[in-house]
Amino acid sequence: MTVNAYGLSRDIPAEVKRLVRQRCGFGCVICGLGIVQYEHVDPEFKDARVHDPDAMSLLCPQCHAKVTTGMWSKAKVKLAIRSPKCKQAGYTREFFDFVEDHPSLRFGGVLLSNCPTPIEVQGHPLFSIKPPEEPDSPFRFSGLFTDSTGKVTLVIEDNEWMASSSSWDVEVQGRTITIRERHRFVHLVLRVEPPREIIVDKLSMSLGGYGFEANGDFLRIRSPGGCINEFTSCISNNNQVGFSL
Ligand SMILES: [Zn+2]
Repeated sequence: MTVNAYGLSRDIPAEVKRLVRQRCGFGCVICGLGIVQYEHVDPEFKDARVHDPDAMSLLCPQCHAKVTTGMWSKAKVKLAIRSPKCKQAGYTREFFDFVEDHPSLRFGGVLLSNCPTPIEVQGHPLFSIKPPEEPDSPFRFSGLFTDSTGKVTLVIEDNEWMASSSSWDVEVQGRTITIRERHRFVHLVLRVEPPREIIVDKLSMSLGGYGFEANGDFLRIRSPGGCINEFTSCISNNNQVGFSL
């Protein structure tokens, strides 16, 4: 069914989806997971005449299925909307999948492979890739991203990512996480190609006096003194540290 009895399409306008995400803290209102679906809570979609963001919620596929099958009540969702899990915790979360090999980081125009510390800033790893703790367990990717004002928006700890619910917008579509700093200002587009690669498609970030700008073709780093280095089509392979700033 693409429209309900009132002619309302199942397609939810992007603006409405964003308002729902912002109200829910960008994750499932019940469990906080960041892979989500949009649910008409009250009224249900079949009875809705408009896509009202205040009548909708984010649910992860598992919680959504429990509500849809009647295992859980709509009352449970309504209660969760009043105090969404992500807003309690301060972030929404999920896991990346790096099961087979040492993951690579593609950062703008730079590919960092077999590199335990892809980027370090003033002696501290901005990203790190640790070996498996035991045989057949995954490599462990950690790091963080800040926005153009220096505020932390995404933390990755041993493959678990946590996106701040105080960001203006966090949207997960397929394998891509997009974080917007404000209307029409994307500060991070992060994409994964599991099980081996994490890709920064777009970045505008400030950290420790350094500025990072990236898109698919280049990585530009501005030092605290104002010196700008731009990297395009670079490959760093088998180095302990890729970039040391
Ligand atoms: Zn859930």
